[in-house]
Amino acid sequence: MAKLIDGRAIAEKVYVDLRREIAELKSKGVTPGLAVILVGDNPASRAYVRSKDKMCRDLGLHSVKLELPTSTTQAELLARVKALNLDSAIHGILVQSPPPKQIDEALIVRALDPRKDVDGFHPENIAKLALGDPTGLVPCTPLGVQRLLIESKIDIDGAHAVILGRSMIVGKPLALLLMQKSKNANATITVVHSRSRDLEKITRSADILIAAIGQPNFVKAEHVGDGAVVIDVGINRLEDAASERGYRLVGDVAFDEVAGKAAAITPVPGGVGPMTIAMLMSNTVKAAGAISLA
Ligand code: NDP
Repeated sequence: MAKLIDGRAIAEKVYVDLRREIAELKSKGVTPGLAVILVGDNPASRAYVRSKDKMCRDLGLHSVKLELPTSTTQAELLARVKALNLDSAIHGILVQSPPPKQIDEALIVRALDPRKDVDGFHPENIAKLALGDPTGLVPCTPLGVQRLLIESKIDIDGAHAVILGRSMIVGKPLALLLMQKSKNANATITVVHSRSRDLEKITRSADILIAAIGQPNFVKAEHVGDGAVVIDVGINRLEDAASERGYRLVGDVAFDEVAGKAAAITPVPGGVGPMTIAMLMSNTVKAAGAISLA
C-alpha cells in the first residue's frame, strides 16, 4: 500500500516558515497584503476566495476581498486592477478564475503589475520561469507540487516525471519548473495530453506521475508503474445524493486501485489543494519582500 502524502500537514509546515518570514517583514514595517477579486457568484470560486481570505487573516496578512457583480465590464475590472497596482498596502493581486464571459482573462493578467502577480500567470513571470530567473513568481499549484515532493523526500533529480495535462495553470509551468537545471528539479519531463498516442505506455514509465486533466478517476492502476509516486492535482465534483452538499470531490486518479500499486500518493481532498493556497501565501510574502525592501 502506498505511503500517503499529506498535503495538509506539509502546508502546515510551510506556514511555520512563513509566519517567521512575516514577523521579520513586520519588524521592518511591512505587512504583506493580498487583494483577491471575485467577479460573479460561481459557488466554487466563492469558496476558494473565502479560504484565501481566511488564510491571510490567520497569518496576519492584510487581506482585501473585492466582490464584483457578474455584470462587471472589462473596463471596470481593469480600473480596479490598475488601482491595486498603485496601492502600496497591496503586494499580491489575483482575479479568481473563471471570470464571466465578457472578461478577457489574458488581458486582465497582462494588466497586473508583474511584481504583484502572485498567481504567476503574467507573461513576464512565465518568461522568468522559462529562463530560470528566480526573481519571478511561479504559479502556485506547480510550486505546491514541487514542495510536496521535496518535503516527502522524493528524489526529483534525474527522475522521469510524466505530467498529464498541458494547461497554462498546471501542466506547462510544472514542466518548466521540474526541468530547471537546479536543485529540487533536473527531472526528465514528458507531458501528455488529449492528443497523445500510447498515453498508458508513457504514464507507466513514470517515476513520478502528476495528473492534472480534470477527468474524475481517469488514472487507473494500468496507467501506473510499480513503485511510482503519484500526485493528483485534479479536483472534480461528482454528484452524490448521500452527501450533505449533494456532491463529493474526487481527483483525476482512481485512488484505491492506484494506491495498491504506487509507492506514494496524494489524496483528494487533502493533497495538492492545501499546498496551492500555501504557495499563494508564500508568493504574497515573497512579493512583499521584493517590492518593499527593494
Ligand atoms: P484544463 O482543462 O485547463 O486542462 C486539462 C488538460 O488535460 C489539457 O491539457 C487537456 O488536453 C488534458 N486532458 C483532458 N482530458 C484528457 C484525457 N482524457 N487524456 C489526456 N489528456 C487530457 O485543466 P486545469 O489544468 O485547469 O485543471 C486540471 C485539473 O486540476 C482540474 O480537475 C482542476 O480542478 C484541478 N486543479 C486543481 C488545483 C489545486 O489546487 N489542486 C489548481 C488548479 C487546477 P488538451 O490540451 O489536449 O485539451
